Amino acid sequence: MASLKKPIISYFFYVAFSLLPYIVQAQNNTDDDAKFISSVHEFSLSKSECYAWLKSLCLDVGNRLSGSIGYKKAVALTSQQLKSIPSVTVFTQDAEVDVWQRGIKEVVEAIPQKGKKIKLNALAIGLSVGTGSKGIRAEVIEVQSLEEVDRLGREKISGKIVFYNRPMPSALVSTRSAYGQSIEQRGAGASRAAKYGAVGVIVRSLTTQIDDFPHTGALRYLADVPKIPAICISTLAAENLSALMKNQKVDIFMKNTSSIVGKSIDQSVIAEIKGSLHPEKIILVGGHLDSWDPGQGAHDDGAGCVQSMEVLHTLIALGYKPKHTIRCVLFANEEIGLAGGNEYARLAKQNNEIHIAAIESDGGGHVPRGFTFEADTSVIKPYFQKISKIVSPLLEPYDLTCNLGGSGADIGPLRPQKALLVGLKADSNRYFDFHHTSRDTYDAVHPRELQLGAAAMTSLVYLIDKYGL
Ligand SMILES: [Zn+2]
Repeated sequence: MASLKKPIISYFFYVAFSLLPYIVQAQNNTDDDAKFISSVHEFSLSKSECYAWLKSLCLDVGNRLSGSIGYKKAVALTSQQLKSIPSVTVFTQDAEVDVWQRGIKEVVEAIPQKGKKIKLNALAIGLSVGTGSKGIRAEVIEVQSLEEVDRLGREKISGKIVFYNRPMPSALVSTRSAYGQSIEQRGAGASRAAKYGAVGVIVRSLTTQIDDFPHTGALRYLADVPKIPAICISTLAAENLSALMKNQKVDIFMKNTSSIVGKSIDQSVIAEIKGSLHPEKIILVGGHLDSWDPGQGAHDDGAGCVQSMEVLHTLIALGYKPKHTIRCVLFANEEIGLAGGNEYARLAKQNNEIHIAAIESDGGGHVPRGFTFEADTSVIKPYFQKISKIVSPLLEPYDLTCNLGGSGADIGPLRPQKALLVGLKADSNRYFDFHHTSRDTYDAVHPRELQLGAAAMTSLVYLIDKYGL
């Protein structure tokens, strides 16, 4: 045994010394990363342009529904803003979109058997057909779910206006999950009710707040049932209507003239810094440039657009030369068809582009809480362990976490191309106070929170670029 001691000790020293350069190199890398990520944060919080860009997008352009003049103005504005960043190439990509117009201001009134009629604050659901200029009047029936409509059947539903009134569950910690559990009423409620002969639907707005701001959003009509008009009412209006219906029959009068008026070519805006070592491999950052028509599309998703633009701006300003191509994409038509995201993925496949990662910010401009990754744990674990060790202590002020979960609608079509899909997870506690409403305006976004989100995205892009996947 004693004779083995010396060789073992020698071997230990041999291994230790031969690894030393790598250990020193790893330490240097960590120090460099810490310095760079600190400078990203300092720059974002003091010299970034993202908040000024958002201000201009919201105040000079305003809302940007697909196919609208506003959308075209937004393409011109953001292209110009991106061109102001040195060394960045800017181009656009066409996508064919449906053009839906809201028409006249919606009217929804509850007319009880006894007492006065009540006006309910309302917004037509995107892609909804109109009622015709005279409006429609019918008895209203309240339900909590699509399944309840199935149970009630034609006998109870035919000829009526169906009122979907299941609240977005406030007991869930994740408001995104709460939204996900309620969205079917808005998205699929009209066709389900039409299947049993309903003449229209009204839907409780998707927020946990009780207030008088109606929230819009999109619906999907099934091909084999009549298209009936669908309108969202505010949560306060929904509460009042439900109370009114307790002991009496109530009719609803609803009037809207919304319709799809044709097709248009909208453009996604794309800007990139070419990679120095692997220009053919792309790390994408993005958001969607279109928005709903009430409000200014500030949180949804002006914030995600300007944060993605800021990633390029910050990397260039700090003199960083990426190995991979860093591409910012402001997608067209997320809200009302996803034509921009689908077309982008189709062309990426056709052109044999390789996306190693795609990061989307579409959860509002609130303080960043982390990232969600779409990947099975075996793929993501070694990668995340490597970066989280470097990032976590630096980003402690907002305690970034990484979880498995959804990324973003626009980058979803890149899934078959095996890109690592990542979502910036912003604090969502107040997101649904603003989402798809007239309250989604520039002043609802706090500059520091927006900037921290941009810094988080830039840091992640830097680490992916440096260490690969
Ligand atoms: Zn959005």
